[in-house]
Amino acid sequence: MNSHANAAADVVSRAINPMNEVRCFIGLGSNLNEPIQQVRTALTELNSLQGVRLTRHSPLYRSEPVGPAGQPDYINAVAELQTTLHPLALLDALQQVEQKHQRKRIQHWGPRTLDLDLLLYNNETINNERLTVPHPYITKRNFVLRPLADLESDLTLPDGSKLMQHLADCPMGTLQQLPL
Ligand code: ADP
Ligand code: MG
Repeated sequence: MNSHANAAADVVSRAINPMNEVRCFIGLGSNLNEPIQQVRTALTELNSLQGVRLTRHSPLYRSEPVGPAGQPDYINAVAELQTTLHPLALLDALQQVEQKHQRKRIQHWGPRTLDLDLLLYNNETINNERLTVPHPYITKRNFVLRPLADLESDLTLPDGSKLMQHLADCPMGTLQQLPL
């Protein structure tokens, strides 16, 4: 489907959904200050946002850092939300949650107490200066692909590609699922 057809399908899906809710997936990551707790707290905070319901989340994973060397391992998870917020309003809300976790943007890809990325918003493709959806690393990072597949193994991305194909093409490295 081209982006016009996508947009038309989204209008239809919003029109027939009485709550005007759309489904999104959020990637969570933390590698500072008790990261497991940071991610668990963030899941609760996502569910308390106005216009957002947390419907499911993946298990937590431990992953090796990408970017500057010498950082602690990351804890990652993916959350599925239903939301009435439009994409930029959702991004604002995610950034407010990040700020609550006293995230300081010191270094690109450097350590952080909480990173919340909007991975998928309905079946939409968005490209503006604040927001790129699907998130550019969705097809490349094992710590996104694995937990996303835990939630929805038959997912098709807006460009028509299959999540399972990206997962098959992605090295799993030392990614480790934590006990529930
Ligand atoms: P990263 O997650 O790439 O390590 P940041 O979390 O610091 O980096 O994000 C930097 C900027 O990325 C944010 O200010 C935001 O505007 C932008 N951005 C673009 N697309 C997205 C997205 N899909 N989800 C979250 N942030 C995004
Ligand atoms: Mg981010």
